[in-house]
Amino acid sequence: MVLYSPGRTSSYPTDPVDSGIRIHFLGGGDEVGNVGCVLEDKTGTRILIDYGLAPTRPPRYPSECPPIDHAIITHSHIDHIGMAPWLVGHHGTRLHGTTLTAAVSEMMWRDTYKVSSIEGYPLPWDMRDLDAALGAWETHDMGEWFEIGAWRLRFHLAGHIPGAAMIEIETPELRLLWGGDMDTRQNPNVAGAKPVKCDILCIESTYGGREHPNRVEEEARLVARVKEVVSRGGLALIPAFASGRCQDILRILHTAVPHLEVHFDGMGTRVTKHWMNNPEHIHHPEGLEKVWRWARKVRSKSDRKKALDADVIVTTSGMLDGGPAIWYLNRLRHDSANAILLTGYQAEGSGGRSLLDNRRLPIFGNITPVDLEVSQFQLSNHAGHSELHSFVRACEPRHVVFFHGDTEAREAISAEFKHSPTPSLPLNGTSLNLK
Ligand SMILES: [Zn+2]
Repeated sequence: MVLYSPGRTSSYPTDPVDSGIRIHFLGGGDEVGNVGCVLEDKTGTRILIDYGLAPTRPPRYPSECPPIDHAIITHSHIDHIGMAPWLVGHHGTRLHGTTLTAAVSEMMWRDTYKVSSIEGYPLPWDMRDLDAALGAWETHDMGEWFEIGAWRLRFHLAGHIPGAAMIEIETPELRLLWGGDMDTRQNPNVAGAKPVKCDILCIESTYGGREHPNRVEEEARLVARVKEVVSRGGLALIPAFASGRCQDILRILHTAVPHLEVHFDGMGTRVTKHWMNNPEHIHHPEGLEKVWRWARKVRSKSDRKKALDADVIVTTSGMLDGGPAIWYLNRLRHDSANAILLTGYQAEGSGGRSLLDNRRLPIFGNITPVDLEVSQFQLSNHAGHSELHSFVRACEPRHVVFFHGDTEAREAISAEFKHSPTPSLPLNGTSLNLK
């Protein structure tokens, strides 16, 4: 059991900064997710960017944040936002994000709280901290400058998911762009990120060294698979992440196979309502409204039973770790005409990974064989190697910091930049000082 040890675990140095900017990773430096990074310069201005937790078993937390008045939250995925209630509860931190990130945060935190109670992993924050965090938001529009200490800051569209932001920071000495989770490619619900000229670029490296398949072809492959399953009298169960992937899948299906009966269940339905309330963050929001009216929302137990006669069910959890997807799978597994279409990364230890590797997974606590056809589709909303490479070049930084990636990925992308810009591969618990 891992328990966070506030007051004893901060790796943050106590000496002042002479010049340039200090970049200190509490988490997410040499790993995917679990992000927390402190930035500080000689004016004493200090901010935190993101404070997440990695929802592994047991969860991983970034190390303890030093006292901090302001945190930038790039987007609402739990590996970037999960520990923010601790910050607010312990340091009274203000949280800066887009309106959509703030709107979705409550659901993400409540779900994290619920899951941690069910799985028996103690969270370092409680419901009081959560309530305090809900009142700690200061929201900003994309492109609107705001000030923290001696710095000016503004958000830019990051692609990835609606509401996700990159943050541009102007200090008295330099300009820094923090990319957050980002993608320069258009996806069904959000336009791609555009480069911003800067001196220092901090950028994720999740897909360093790996190229994505062509997005259009991959979407076509998904649609073809759905048609094939439906034409033989089966049902296509599509487990998908609540924030981003569910909505992408629905838009793809609505465009390609509007005649099919598609049911939509799980936390993604509530996320979608927030998206529709914040249409300025959505690419062609009227398209999403149409999709919402078209998909049959599952709102009750009887709706869930009716969905078993549908053509397609899109639901959480994306890695088959619980949620309605498991309920459906338990009923659908007896008819070999049905199929499972996985639409995202399946982490080690997840139900989806176990299904792919061993043809079995936990269903309500019992390891259960599942003999249905399983296929997997690459519909990632992170930039691939080529997109990262082009984006870095177009920002024309002096320094580029590759974080949020494993060693292999970070080395592969950094190998593209031998001299200019100067690459850095930070480690958690250590500081970079860049000028
Ligand atoms: Zn993300």
